[in-house]
Amino acid sequence: MSIRVLKLEVAAQIAAGEVVERPASVVKELIENSLDAGATQIVVEVKGGGLELIRVVDNGAGIPAADVETAFARHATSKITSARDLDHIHTLGFRGEALPSIASVSHLELVTRSADEVAGTRLELRHGSVTRREAASRPVGTTVVVTRLFQNVPARLKFMKSAATENGRISALVSRYSLAYPSIRFSLTIDGRASFSSPGTGDLKEALAAVYGPETAESMLVVRGEWDGVGKVSGFAGPPSVSRAQRGYITLFVNHRSIQDRRLTYAVEEAYQGLLMVGRRPVAVLELTLPPEEVDVNVHPAKNEVRFRREREVFGLVQKAVREALVESAPVPRAGIEASFTGGPASPRTPLASDLVGWARRPRADASEENAAPIMGPMKALPVLRVVGQVNNTYIVAEGPDGMYLVDQHAAHERVLFEKVLKERKERGVQAQGMLTPATVELTPLQEEGLGPLESLLQEYGFAFEAFGDRTYLLRAVPATLSDRSPGRAFVDILDSMLDAKGDDPQEATIAAVIACHSAVRAGDTLGQEEMEGLIRSLESADNPHTCPHGRPTLVHLSSSLLEREFGRR
Ligand code: ADP
Ligand code: MG
Repeated sequence: MSIRVLKLEVAAQIAAGEVVERPASVVKELIENSLDAGATQIVVEVKGGGLELIRVVDNGAGIPAADVETAFARHATSKITSARDLDHIHTLGFRGEALPSIASVSHLELVTRSADEVAGTRLELRHGSVTRREAASRPVGTTVVVTRLFQNVPARLKFMKSAATENGRISALVSRYSLAYPSIRFSLTIDGRASFSSPGTGDLKEALAAVYGPETAESMLVVRGEWDGVGKVSGFAGPPSVSRAQRGYITLFVNHRSIQDRRLTYAVEEAYQGLLMVGRRPVAVLELTLPPEEVDVNVHPAKNEVRFRREREVFGLVQKAVREALVESAPVPRAGIEASFTGGPASPRTPLASDLVGWARRPRADASEENAAPIMGPMKALPVLRVVGQVNNTYIVAEGPDGMYLVDQHAAHERVLFEKVLKERKERGVQAQGMLTPATVELTPLQEEGLGPLESLLQEYGFAFEAFGDRTYLLRAVPATLSDRSPGRAFVDILDSMLDAKGDDPQEATIAAVIACHSAVRAGDTLGQEEMEGLIRSLESADNPHTCPHGRPTLVHLSSSLLEREFGRR
């Protein structure tokens, strides 16, 4: 085939592939344009996961009638004029690609009026070609309506997830911007339902309350850090007690630009080292302010990745500031309160636990070498154990036919309850327990979007709940094992886990694991002899007694031969 220059329309669609990957990317570009136009109020409405309708209305500067068509020309932008401007970009947009890209894969209507005009302009485009232009009346500002998104790009349509997934992404996005711009009023309507709105008071804490609920917002710690007059970081980090079961609650901005940066996210997680239980993730909203020449924002077509000139210093700054906020609020976590603290090797708080790990590693290798302890293999049943006592309110000490067993009470109980819940569900349905006083839970917009499709499944697991307005829900019944534990947190964790689950089919094991985790006795709980015996009996009859649902060991076996060797008897 000979080489040909692509038709303009085809080239536009290819470029659109980079900028507008999915409905949420359209919403993102339109919001950024509104922000660049100085809007103080941005109203977003979507239908059908954004494929049917996306409408963004702002009260920004508007586009003068003479420039309206130009806005849809490729690489047409009012924001930079020369390559030199790329080094110090103060606006969110600069590539002049969004409007033409969106227009090429949809039907688009733009109505706009700038401040010094009496009449506004309406422009209609179909797949990038103007089909109508007329004068229109409208207050100063811009409205963009996108319909039939991707209808002319079947390949892209095929990759769209369910409307619920796309709605979730869109509400997460609008929440993120409302945190980056607390002084701007955002509202989001999904399929005619008010999903989210931020107060726009300029107070980040109030924006946080709109997204995460007032309780979480209230408990957040202030983060502040400076880097030798070069840059600074500010924002809020959740105390360990408001951790979540899933990633995705670390929201980062650089110079007001929402970014996704795996390593920077990791730097924040690292700051929580030793303070969160295994598998828990922090909540944080952080804004980095850096001189434009320290950041390259032009590394990604959708502009949600950036490059830092002095990466190490930036990460160090963030990590130190978050760590300081945490340490100030909770200087020394109580030793042993959670067996699953992820203390690093030098963690001084849990000497006993880390000693045990070091100690226990040998018998495992030992067992496989000598094949002396067949009970160590996975999926093998446990022998009958005699409970001796409890150590550190965390481990049950037991004796078996071949030496000693240390059982992690939380992990073991999790395993037992996990299997129980799954079995109940298969046989006669998970036993539910009505609550005398319903627990209230506040959901984020993203969680609320995820709730709808999960409703019947959650009911099968014993949850009964109802909407109470303002993204608050009343839990009326919960799985019986949960009733005197933390039903609200379990409920929220389940939603998070499900939202994070790949594909659109929720994994039942995840729900059961979260229920088990929240129902199980904790490390730090004092157990009576009978409770310990009951737990060990149940563990003995579990299908897979050696690991908890997350795969961590439930017990450590110190064989008789190991004990003899350690004490020099052999
Ligand atoms: P970019 O944002 O990179 O400049 P876009 O394609 O997103 O490119 O927008 C092209 C131009 O259209 C912008 O530079 C701006 O001048 C104008 N524009 C787009 N949306 C708006 C809006 N909501 N309000 C005012 N002007 C807008
Ligand atoms: Mg733009």
